[in-house]
Amino acid sequence: MPGLKSIYGIASNAPYDGGRYDHEPAQRGDLPAEEDWDTHSYLRRVPTVFEAVRSEFGAELPLLHDSHHRLTPIQAAKLGKSLEPYDLFWLEDVTPAENQEALRLVRQHTTTPLAIGEIFNTVWDYQLIIREQLIDYVRSAVTHTGGITHPKKVLDSAGQYQIKSGMHGPTDISPVGLAAQMHLGLAIHNFGIQEYMKHGARTDEVFEQSFTFTDGLLHPGEQPGLGVELNLAEAAKHPYQRAYLPFNRLADGTVHDW
Ligand SMILES: [Mg+2]
Repeated sequence: MPGLKSIYGIASNAPYDGGRYDHEPAQRGDLPAEEDWDTHSYLRRVPTVFEAVRSEFGAELPLLHDSHHRLTPIQAAKLGKSLEPYDLFWLEDVTPAENQEALRLVRQHTTTPLAIGEIFNTVWDYQLIIREQLIDYVRSAVTHTGGITHPKKVLDSAGQYQIKSGMHGPTDISPVGLAAQMHLGLAIHNFGIQEYMKHGARTDEVFEQSFTFTDGLLHPGEQPGLGVELNLAEAAKHPYQRAYLPFNRLADGTVHDW
């Protein structure tokens, strides 16, 4: 976004290997890094980005966008409406997750599919938004929402309303978590899509995995159980380091949701 120096979504320190980021594109450090934010600039800019991407790559390419909980309900409604011509696969986390009723207002104004839930922690967070059909994709990771059993309950209930899975899968979901939700995705009838970012070499040495990723498809492999073994000797070589996520400031210095 023009005018902003540092913003989530742009990998600042990873080598670009010709097509794929090898890490979560968020700064992490001993103390939270400061990033910039300007909602009005964002709302003006995003439709022009999708206009450019659609005209370059055509109608078939599935496009997903994450607003990272930064908008008010009416701003989110405006964004969803302005992105309708570009036929998004989903628009993610448009409003802060604490107030699920906000999605009623967004839903009234736009047909852009909505995904939410990567920071939900319980089955109960989904009760209203599934029953009122306010979302299209469930974003919970099994490691944040009670293990395999609770997301299974959420997704079975979501399936009655044609709501699908889209479980959270950045690199801070470990290979254990990813394998667990891969198995859950295979067990349900309303699987949608699985987010996946390849882990780095150090993570792969600690978590020995049987699952594979080829041509956009994950396969669980042939090992029993989740198919992931934790190599404790390898893990011991990497002591804990503090790693906070960033925070946002507006141009006037106000702190804003990250
Ligand atoms: Mg997200």
